Amino acid sequence: MSVTAVRTPAEYESQLRRYLYDRSEEGRAVRVGEKEVSERAEIVARYRDLFSREQLGALRAAEENASAGDERERLYRLRKTCEAGVVSAEMAEREDALENAVLAARIDFKGEELPIRSAQAKLAVLAEYREREDLGEVTADRSAEFNDERLEVLRTGEELEAEVSGEPDMVARNEEEKGVSLRELEAALAQASERSTAAYVLLRDRWFERLLGPEREHVPSSYHVAYLRRLSPLASTYTKDRAVEVCIDTVKRLGFDLESEPNIRLDLDDRPQKSPRACVIPSDPPSVVHLITRAQGGLHDYQAFLHEAGHALHYAGCDPELPYTFRNISRDHALTEIYSYILEAITREPEWHAHYFGLSDEEAVRNAEATTFLEALLFRRYTAKLRFELDYWARFNENGGGPEGYEERLTEATGIRYRADAYLADMDGGFYSADYLRAWIRSAQLRAYLVRELGENWWRSAETGERLRALFAEGTRPSSEEIASRLGYQPLDIGPLLHELGA
Ligand SMILES: [Zn+2]
Repeated sequence: MSVTAVRTPAEYESQLRRYLYDRSEEGRAVRVGEKEVSERAEIVARYRDLFSREQLGALRAAEENASAGDERERLYRLRKTCEAGVVSAEMAEREDALENAVLAARIDFKGEELPIRSAQAKLAVLAEYREREDLGEVTADRSAEFNDERLEVLRTGEELEAEVSGEPDMVARNEEEKGVSLRELEAALAQASERSTAAYVLLRDRWFERLLGPEREHVPSSYHVAYLRRLSPLASTYTKDRAVEVCIDTVKRLGFDLESEPNIRLDLDDRPQKSPRACVIPSDPPSVVHLITRAQGGLHDYQAFLHEAGHALHYAGCDPELPYTFRNISRDHALTEIYSYILEAITREPEWHAHYFGLSDEEAVRNAEATTFLEALLFRRYTAKLRFELDYWARFNENGGGPEGYEERLTEATGIRYRADAYLADMDGGFYSADYLRAWIRSAQLRAYLVRELGENWWRSAETGERLRALFAEGTRPSSEEIASRLGYQPLDIGPLLHELGA
């Protein structure tokens, strides 16, 4: 073993920047199909001394000696990044083994051998209700066979995090890092979900009928969710060919020119090796930000492009004078998701549909309603998921958690039947669901603010762009809750969200 280098915080930050740049660029090359073999392990090995316990101790000591304010916050984020790196270095082998086992698993569908991932992708495009039902069931059965190993990985990872952070309670640890009370958040979300139930039921019945047809069960299974999300019956209007042009023009009306923005590298080509999921890779914000999409056809392409454009503009728009930590490191994902959600929200404006797709007012309202239905469905699913996860982790240290409540909560919230044995595959690390849900509340507040300040045309006003630019300039420094106060709202004010959900 070589002697481990322990760096000062400033050296640590600049070495971390190099590491994240190399790792991001490698991930990008593999994802877009430029490289066939990932050399990620080699990069991790090269930078191994960034994530040692000695380094963690040094960062913690520096943080304790710093006075409150930006400097302490910066050291806090460096320390937490180091902490997460220590845990993931020790977990990498087991996590990879689990992932590779899942990747290697095959199911048999009508005489065809399919990997689990391909079967899941196929569920989104199979037109026949009964076929989705059959394929969904064999896929979920096969996936559930990995539950013992999933639970072991979860347990080991949690024990390690508890030890490395010094906080044995998963909920308390995440509340501290996010700077919010998850139980208060849960209470506000439960209220939003309850108060919008009547509106949701109306939308759901109408769109279940349109999308799943009359042969559906009263409570259809979750095997149909991917298919619902694609809104296949609308695919002929929202063609693959126009996605890039329409989205670039939409963003241009806000005053952002993606094609001549030097910080954003666009990769919009259709290549067979390229992953179909749209993403943003902020390799070195603000100057190197990749926006990657690959249109597949359907309204979902347009939503995904606008969503990712929101992330890209945020990272590419941060003040280059900020310390690196406040350009690329955040406590959670709740801030940047506000900006992706607000751009995606443009697809809920009926006039956007009428303008770009030559629809009658009636058709435009109907198609915009489809996006509201999906939004409400996902919001309710995530709220139920957060509630389950909070209960799960509350009992974790006593009885190990267990699936109790997963099926009941998700099924009741959505009107879609979720299987109890899917709870582990559906669990996100670090209460990611809470970050999305905070962004849901906040982006609704932001939209209400823009409508109040700029009127119903907010989504095609360069003035909206100016206001967003001012927020983007702050980088990753503010919390989602600080943005609420900039907009004149209490963090848990769900009024604007209820309006979005049609309540
Ligand atoms: Zn996002």
